[in-house]
Amino acid sequence: MSYDSNNIFARILRGEIPCNKAYEDQYALAFHDIAPQAPVHLLVIPKGEYVSFDDFSRLASAEAIAGFYRAAQKVAEQLGLQAGGYRILANTGADAHQEVMHYHLHIFAGCDLGSMIKKSLV
Ligand code: AMP
Repeated sequence: MSYDSNNIFARILRGEIPCNKAYEDQYALAFHDIAPQAPVHLLVIPKGEYVSFDDFSRLASAEAIAGFYRAAQKVAEQLGLQAGGYRILANTGADAHQEVMHYHLHIFAGCDLGSMIKKSLV
């Protein structure tokens, strides 16, 4: 799938639409999800044009990949999420219901997040 530069996260990166920013550096932007599914629900997105985890992992430079994951760690640290713990998730493609086609990590925290996958699915 080719990258659509008009996807909503690309528009957030360009400052065309607002976000509730939590962290930013040269590699990544983190902001609060507009429809949170946990008391803390952040999205971390790389600054380059990558559709998915698959795309990012294959195409991004080693510097961009390292910078992105270090930024995600800084988000967790700056929001004090280590004490209670947190979950990172990256939906990739149709079966995972990826809605926004700009690679992003979800960070969930702030309560007991339960089991990872509903038991009925396994
Ligand atoms: P995914 O299904 O992994 O692609 O998740 C996309 C996420 O983006 C969802 O959790 C949405 O609630 C979130 N989202 C969509 N538009 C916005 C927005 N303008 N600001 C913040 N979060 C958004």
